[in-house]
Amino acid sequence: MNFKANLDHLEIFKKVGSCADQLGVDTYVVGGYVRDLILKRESKDIDFVCVGSGIALARHVAQSFDTHVPVSVFKNFGTAMLTIDGFELEFVGARKESYREDSRKPLVEDGTLKEDQDRRDFTINAMAIGINVHNYGELIDPFDGLRDIKRKLIRTPKDPDITFSDDPLRMMRAVRFAAQLKFDIEPSTFEGLMGNAERLRIISGERIIDELNKIIQSHTPSYGFKLLFVSKLLHQFFPEMVDLQGVDSVGDKSHKDNFYHTLQVLDNVSHMSDDLWLRWAAIMHDIAKPATKRFNDKVGWTFHGHEDKGAKMTPGIFRRLKLPMDERLKYVQKLVRLHLRPIALVNDKVTDAAIRRLLYEAGDDIDDLMKLCRADVTSKNNNKVKRFLANFDKVEQKIQDVEEKDHVRNFQPPISGEEIMDIFKLNPSKIVGELKEEIKEAILEGEIQNNKEEAIELMYKLASKKGLKPSEN
Ligand code: ATP
Ligand code: MG
Repeated sequence: MNFKANLDHLEIFKKVGSCADQLGVDTYVVGGYVRDLILKRESKDIDFVCVGSGIALARHVAQSFDTHVPVSVFKNFGTAMLTIDGFELEFVGARKESYREDSRKPLVEDGTLKEDQDRRDFTINAMAIGINVHNYGELIDPFDGLRDIKRKLIRTPKDPDITFSDDPLRMMRAVRFAAQLKFDIEPSTFEGLMGNAERLRIISGERIIDELNKIIQSHTPSYGFKLLFVSKLLHQFFPEMVDLQGVDSVGDKSHKDNFYHTLQVLDNVSHMSDDLWLRWAAIMHDIAKPATKRFNDKVGWTFHGHEDKGAKMTPGIFRRLKLPMDERLKYVQKLVRLHLRPIALVNDKVTDAAIRRLLYEAGDDIDDLMKLCRADVTSKNNNKVKRFLANFDKVEQKIQDVEEKDHVRNFQPPISGEEIMDIFKLNPSKIVGELKEEIKEAILEGEIQNNKEEAIELMYKLASKKGLKPSEN
């Protein structure tokens, strides 16, 4: 099969090809770029493999441009990279890898194109296209990756058991490609995955989370999670999520399966937003349900406090999974902690104060919180879903009205600590904090309006109760 026409849209291939001809080395586009070209997916990384020195070829390509193109050389890996027109080109010499029993690191030696293709993880990632003048556009596809693309299958070129045992990260990659491309994992490949899941433990958390986040960012993340669950890969690094699975019954009272519910919520938010951290909030929102589950004769199953407990569990899970410990963690914690609050505001008797409190606590994340709450409605009963969503419309309207009136969403204290210290000639002290806090509380409770005048008036009242006198000047 010839892919000449598919390469012609980019100058790069002709250019690299003629450089390769000048050096007399056979060179191929290989791996992900070829796969994505056939799948018509956009791809900005192009990997070239040549039978010779990748570094020498990269240098030659860089010199062939009129303008200076810097080359990054990674001598230890025998690779070199350069960026042209927003494309990242990576050059490497063809190599052969052999794994030994006693080590996770393969022996690497120079090899042929075929040997280089042999070491690749999946048939769809092992295709190469020639770019020298004698084979320009020619597809070299030793494992029939093209057929697997047509059948939408992830399959290892060699024995899956050996492939996954040699490098267990490939198991995460199998699920990740299945999720991104909406492919199935071919049965014997999946069997290899199930047989080797425990070996994932030798892979670093950073590499696992990279793949997991790509699964989470796919179109329907539940699919990837189901594969991770069934293969027991998920059990190796995220047991808290596995614990969500299952249904308990006492008499005729059962609770829903929180694993599948969480996946549904995750898919629902994914249809509303591409934001990775909102998706993480969906994954975490019920994480403490197993830990807070109780049975009560009158009301059945309860999960009281799972939102607070879930927010408390989040940092430990983030740390272990090598997720960021910065404001992204805080955001996820906040959404987990607040995820039940909006539904409690449906009742007509709800006061503005309750709404101001939620607005104050959620701040600018109120919109994401509402997305999560809407996504959390997963009943099979359509009427029920409609009713819940209509309730959220009401809550959102109330939130909007209160925000227009009171502006507490980005609450800024109407009197600053400095002003208080200045008026009463105080040093930074506990009492300053107390005054600020009491003024804020009065605003949220609706005792005073959110403006400076009323805040100052209240400040004087509160201060005099505390025995403070304003300074004379
Ligand atoms: P993407 O860039 O979209 O993640 P990709 O297929 O290009 O997909 P990379 O991680 O960039 O993935 O790897 C480039 C190529 O290197 C792959 O297509 C595959 O042929 C090979 N490869 C990468 N990781 C492995 C691995 N762990 N085992 C075997 N081959 C691998
Ligand atoms: Mg790539």
